[in-house]
Amino acid sequence: MISAIIEDLKMQNLIDLHLHLDGSLPVLSVKKILAKEGKTMSDQELKERLSVGEDCQNLAEYLDKFNFPLELMQSAENLHLLTCDLLKDLRSQGLVYAEIRFAPQQHTKTLTQAEAVQAVIAGLEDFYAW
Ligand SMILES: [Zn+2]
Repeated sequence: MISAIIEDLKMQNLIDLHLHLDGSLPVLSVKKILAKEGKTMSDQELKERLSVGEDCQNLAEYLDKFNFPLELMQSAENLHLLTCDLLKDLRSQGLVYAEIRFAPQQHTKTLTQAEAVQAVIAGLEDFYAW
């Protein structure tokens, strides 16, 4: 049933006008990054770290969910990978247009804001070459 719905969605030309890069990390990409760092997390733990539960009590609790993704988005290599993989995921879901936003100043533990922007653009260019 779900696969039939996904197939139907692929036939549509979907758009997303407001998508946050740090709130939309592909789980498989997160697993790749964790593996590269010699870390693993169960699917359940990843779900808890990357999404808000139905019992979310307030905005502060909601915004706390961005801490883990942002930890993973502090290198050019990871920003590049996450951007390219997100775009591939969106395309496979039938999206033909997406306005993806991110805050370069949130990725400056080792990068400058310009380097963060360049890494995301490189991920976009890799997607176009895919
Ligand atoms: Zn927003």
